[in-house]
Amino acid sequence: MTVDYHLHTSRCGHATGTMAEYAAAAEKQGLAEIGFADHFPLELLGFTPQHRVNMQPEELDGYVAEVKTLQSRLSFPVRLGVEVDFLPGREKETAAALARHDFDFCIGSVHFLDGWDFTHPGEAKRYAELDPDELYDRYFALVRDLARSNLFDIVGHLDVIKKFACFPRRDWSSVVDASCREIKKADLCVEVNTAGWRAPVKEAYPGVMLLAKCRELGIPLTLGSDAHSPQEVGYGLQRAVQLLAGLGFREIATFCGRRRIMRPLLPL
Ligand code: ZN
Ligand code: FE
Ligand code: FE
Ligand code: ZN
Repeated sequence: MTVDYHLHTSRCGHATGTMAEYAAAAEKQGLAEIGFADHFPLELLGFTPQHRVNMQPEELDGYVAEVKTLQSRLSFPVRLGVEVDFLPGREKETAAALARHDFDFCIGSVHFLDGWDFTHPGEAKRYAELDPDELYDRYFALVRDLARSNLFDIVGHLDVIKKFACFPRRDWSSVVDASCREIKKADLCVEVNTAGWRAPVKEAYPGVMLLAKCRELGIPLTLGSDAHSPQEVGYGLQRAVQLLAGLGFREIATFCGRRRIMRPLLPL
């Protein structure tokens, strides 16, 4: 059972390809199940980002409708998801906005630290001015708030703060431990996001230390390529499955109507 639960579409403004093209790529690779998870309109949560990084509010209904059309046409499950920023102080708006659609799953991600779009290549210069230890503390504190918010089903790219190969200088195992405990307490699933292998860090999200902690605590995992083009659908999933099998994972999480369904983890 191999799934790709993190597909974007051209609606977010920085991806290419139609949904039908993403679905065709998945079918060709024999993926058992896919989930679209385009960037939720931040404007609906009362936040206007500096770069265009999400669907526009008026595009959301069309996005939902197009996934439903694909569901009726394809022979494998196509799930309706979204990737939503966790914006502290906007929990009520987020809950209300997500409740308006019958999503199968919601990925909660952190892409902003006090308005800084830290995964955006155009904003990466700022890392040089910051202390990595402090940065990790701030980032993972937000991840723990995300877990406690009870808004999402999946934590997106759990350690994306490493994207430009920024790592703490000190031992940060206590941060790993505290963050995973909060995720477990919230009964959240963690995605293994293969986009890290395409990023400067050249490491999947999350790294092995976090994955081993997930295993130890019994945190379920799902898989996503974070494809921003049809060519990236399924990217690195086989390698990810091998990595997880080696760490002792035997199941993978899938979602329907925001309910988690565990399936056996099998190679492609
Ligand atoms: Zn994106
Ligand atoms: Fe993301
Ligand atoms: Fe994404
Ligand atoms: Zn992403």
